[in-house]
Amino acid sequence: MTLLTSLTLAEARDGLANKSFTSLELTDAHLGAIEAARTLNAFVLETPDQARAMARAVDAKIARGEGGPLAGIPLGIKDLFATRDVRTTACSKILGNFVPPYESTVTSQLWRDGAVMLGKLNNDEFAMGSSNETSCFGPVVNPWRREGANTELVPGGSSGGSASAVAAMLCMGATATDTGGSIRQPAALTGTVGIKPTYGRCSRWGIVAFASSLDQAGPIARTVRDSAILMRSMAGHDPKDTTSVDRAVPDYEAAIGKSVKGMKIGVPREYRLDGMPAEIEKLWAEGAAWLKAAGAELVDVSLPHTKYALPAYYIIAPAEASSNLARYDGVRYGLRVPGRSIGELYENTRAEGFGAEVRRRVMIGTYVLSAGYYDAYYLRAQKVRTLIKKDFEDCFAKGVHAILTPATPSAAFAVGANLDPVEMYLNDIFTVTVNMAGLPGIAVPAGRDAQQLPLGLQLIGRPFDEETLFSLGEVIEQAAGRFTPARWW
Ligand code: GLN
Repeated sequence: MTLLTSLTLAEARDGLANKSFTSLELTDAHLGAIEAARTLNAFVLETPDQARAMARAVDAKIARGEGGPLAGIPLGIKDLFATRDVRTTACSKILGNFVPPYESTVTSQLWRDGAVMLGKLNNDEFAMGSSNETSCFGPVVNPWRREGANTELVPGGSSGGSASAVAAMLCMGATATDTGGSIRQPAALTGTVGIKPTYGRCSRWGIVAFASSLDQAGPIARTVRDSAILMRSMAGHDPKDTTSVDRAVPDYEAAIGKSVKGMKIGVPREYRLDGMPAEIEKLWAEGAAWLKAAGAELVDVSLPHTKYALPAYYIIAPAEASSNLARYDGVRYGLRVPGRSIGELYENTRAEGFGAEVRRRVMIGTYVLSAGYYDAYYLRAQKVRTLIKKDFEDCFAKGVHAILTPATPSAAFAVGANLDPVEMYLNDIFTVTVNMAGLPGIAVPAGRDAQQLPLGLQLIGRPFDEETLFSLGEVIEQAAGRFTPARWW
């Protein structure tokens, strides 16, 4: 069992193709691992019957030589993706036992390519959070612990279940979503690889909407190659999402191992924060040195509007959220708390169904969109967003191929650390700019802190140039090695 779950996705793919083992064996090994790891709370719904049925069907296909690129690979699905006939809640009480009658485009492409669904993964409620503590199913536990301690640590968020499950080898890869950092931050905090593709690269259809102009799906996996393999299946044009882009999907895996010689890598001075921990500084310098040793040229760059990104994000994201979440009224989906009038029914349902962080976002969003404040807040934030985008455009226009930054300002912190909302929001300081500009960004494990917890670096790319991120990411991975938590659960 241990052996099969510790394979990389690429190794498992090859083993299945060589008939070294079957998808049913691989799936059973993962179902066993999930059962033995319930204390991590990574899965909010296990679907073993469906998993075995999918595995058997794909084994038959493999035997006929008809397996797709992901034939027989067991995956976990973030509970933000609608899965047909399988409960989908966004980890909010308000969706109750909602069972969608349709499948999200991204997951349907994974099944098209032969993947097997193990179950649904925990996340922050409606993907709002950076610690996976706002989920109505309770917090997820990071499989990593500080050296010599057994304090439970968060896996980051909002895709905390995805990151924890992948790091703990409960699945070979997972879907995730990223609105301000929710793929890259949890990947960094768990020693896994996470890529947020260019806005429009993956369809948003069938993904519970948070902030539609920022939301993007992407994979979390244990290696850069595995994330490239998953990306190819997840990406693609979808007429059902008007913001998805009609561009051919490249063979991302082919970018692995490509030379990065002569590439210009920008190091933005504005990301050097006051009070940044020395180990983050060191990690960043080390990453730069590895890329240089591989033949890249490191250049100082300036992204002058960086400091406005987080405040502007916390206007735009709540504004869009307040509008997207208006549909949860107790009439159409999930939870209904009756009242004496329809107005009271709405109020009771929303008061009871939404958690504190979601209510805070709805209130902020409603405020910044209201008459009299719209110009002062929302419109101004949109202008700031344009300036942030232009910073990156100017940088790329000077011939920069990608930008190297830390992925997070710190390693994983304790469950229940009770950060105030602004402290929590600061987790995304290095990642939100990328969503604001619609660019691709990858987080790759690059080192450890003094307490032996994993730390990640981020590479930001030109629009639709995920391939360069995979090439550069693999250079870092080769230099840093892979990161696996010691098993205690
Ligand atoms: N942590 C950020 C937030 O709470 C980003 C979340 C995300 O990317 N979904 O909004």
